[in-house]
Amino acid sequence: MSLNKDGVLTEREGFIKYGSCGGDMKCGGESLAGAVSQRACVYCGARVVLNPISDAYHIVHGPIGCASYTWDIRGSLSSGSDLYRNSFSTDLSEKEVIFGGIKKLTAAVDEICANYSPKLIFIYSTCIVGVIGDDVESVCRYAESKYNTRVINVKSPGFSGAKMQGYKAACDALMKLMEGSAPSGAAGKAGGGVSVNILGDFNLAGEIWIISNYLKEIGVEVISKFTGDSKYEEIIKAPKAALNIVQCAGSMTYLAKTMEDVFGVPYIKVSFFGVDDVCASLLRIAQFFNNDEILKKAKALILRMSPKTKAELDKYIPLLRGRKAAIYVGGGFKAISLINQFKELGMKTVLAGTQTGKKEDYEIISSLVDSDAVVLDDANPSELEKFMIQKGADILVGGVKERPLAYKLGVAFCDHNHERKYALAGFEGAVNFAKEISESLNSPVWKFLRQ
Ligand code: SF4
Repeated sequence: MSLNKDGVLTEREGFIKYGSCGGDMKCGGESLAGAVSQRACVYCGARVVLNPISDAYHIVHGPIGCASYTWDIRGSLSSGSDLYRNSFSTDLSEKEVIFGGIKKLTAAVDEICANYSPKLIFIYSTCIVGVIGDDVESVCRYAESKYNTRVINVKSPGFSGAKMQGYKAACDALMKLMEGSAPSGAAGKAGGGVSVNILGDFNLAGEIWIISNYLKEIGVEVISKFTGDSKYEEIIKAPKAALNIVQCAGSMTYLAKTMEDVFGVPYIKVSFFGVDDVCASLLRIAQFFNNDEILKKAKALILRMSPKTKAELDKYIPLLRGRKAAIYVGGGFKAISLINQFKELGMKTVLAGTQTGKKEDYEIISSLVDSDAVVLDDANPSELEKFMIQKGADILVGGVKERPLAYKLGVAFCDHNHERKYALAGFEGAVNFAKEISESLNSPVWKFLRQ
């Protein structure tokens, strides 16, 4: 491995682009060995998507270390059950690596079924299970027939890719759940009334409630949520919805496409981050139903909320104007919304990167940022540090893995992932976002750190 004149690994050059300059950039490939990707493993990606299903039991079939991805670091809110906050592990050790882990897994499933009568169990097959070849499917079949419950194998050995493949494994598990449990007549009969499923919101801080309330107000029924604050009974009804709206495109576009193929439910992409995106998304949903009453209600909601939200945001602009933002998030759609939100606040995005962005996402990102901004796919901490310093970023928006990097550089930070405590979606979320960015950026602590 060698470094170029900017101190970047030469093999990584194609994954980095300077704003609107130059041609296409590489993305969607495997991480470069030795480059220390910020991406998580396949199992983690699957767990992120499925864990918010609040009345499911999540058994991690693997060594105890894999089970550390719990609700505590992958938080999401529930309006009902808190079963999902527990984590179950088969705690595989050397003995099972040699003789197999099926006995332990069967004992774990038996214990849960005997004591808790679960409706739904997910079994995550981790790295070691992929290596030793446990027949997890046979345990699922055994448990389903013995206990009359749904037991789904989530095929997610960490080494079989990165977080993106984990999303796909989770979506496959959800399809299996819906196909095997759909109430009679549900499958293949999409189009039930004015109804949607919300895909790709994990209710990290109550966002799904905000979005659901808007939809209720304009007369659109929410059948199911994938997967924030969701429940088994809701999810199996999802094939009845007339439309899927996809918020986190990176994790859920595959499920949306598969549901369209199998159940005939069409989908549209939406974003509820930032005032302009919220308004555009509400109108797009209303227009889909081609119903004057819904469109009228959507316009009324926008007219009521948009001006007063913008007036609130205006209060923060003098505190934020001209400041520079760096963004490093999971998917392209979120990065695009954030760039727009920073524009609404008078700020400039000098670095924008994602773990799983696609070619079309990067084309939009490049068109939104200035030509001297840096756009990165699958960045590593060294690149993030280098470009944040080079571009003079005042704040980094990211997740749990990026937080220490920002603080070590003495730069403000905004968590746009599982550790956040305030909802960032909807009109309310736009104000929360501005407030958090302003409080973090303008905290007196930074001047002391930089001295
Ligand atoms: S990489 Fe493998 S061993 Fe590590 S957490 Fe992921 S599944 Fe577990």
